[in-house]
Amino acid sequence: MTITIIVALLILAALAYAGMPKRPMRVLLRVDIQNGFMPKDDKIPGTGELPVDGAPEIVPTVNALSNCDRFDSVVDTQDFHPVDHESFYTQHEGKKPFDEIDLHGVRQTLWNPHCRQNTPGCEFYPTLDRSRVAFTQRKGMNKQRDSYSGFWDNGHKESTGLADYLRAEARRRGFKGVEVTVVGVTRPFCDTYTAWDSVDEGFKTYLVEDACSMLGDAAAEKADRERLTGHGVVFVKANDILRGSGAGCWNPRGQWK
Ligand SMILES: [Zn+2]
Repeated sequence: MTITIIVALLILAALAYAGMPKRPMRVLLRVDIQNGFMPKDDKIPGTGELPVDGAPEIVPTVNALSNCDRFDSVVDTQDFHPVDHESFYTQHEGKKPFDEIDLHGVRQTLWNPHCRQNTPGCEFYPTLDRSRVAFTQRKGMNKQRDSYSGFWDNGHKESTGLADYLRAEARRRGFKGVEVTVVGVTRPFCDTYTAWDSVDEGFKTYLVEDACSMLGDAAAEKADRERLTGHGVVFVKANDILRGSGAGCWNPRGQWK
């Protein structure tokens, strides 16, 4: 009788162990899909601050990916600057947008004021589906440092805490490690820095090229791709994920079934 109970318990333990995920937690990391980075649209307050052509066009693809069962977790980053952030050209006498300066020891491009805390510009774009977002990582709150990456500020002085959050969440849910898929606004800035740092955090990292907007010409795109690929980032297309032509469990739900 005792032996029967022990055997039954061992079988139950083996089944429970077999049921635990042995793969990394797959995170869809959506970078800065906020009004401030969208071209001016009179119907949407906050648009036009730092406009990126093609940024609104990625949103339906990002939404489709967000509803794909491949991903265990969906995380947004949010550029969230104080009103007097020193990356704004307006904070520097005689400077204009896109000038470059030394900002406390870090090379800094100066931008139009954008994504200021508690203004419409820092809100997420209204058509962005946030229903599966588990966590929002804000960045750029320190007025002396810009933070293109969702993981670190540009000078690599201060972590946002996102990598620790993802590792802890993966452990809590029984996954083995973290895998990050980057989409959003914009190469070769916030998407690029985020994907770069993701590799450095030890995460297998994908970038969905048709779900990232791009600032710059074909040569800039090529240089950015070569740099990221050389660092270990894997470029994929949205349909590789949504239509199941790649490896893994690709069972889209919602759109594009
Ligand atoms: Zn910013």
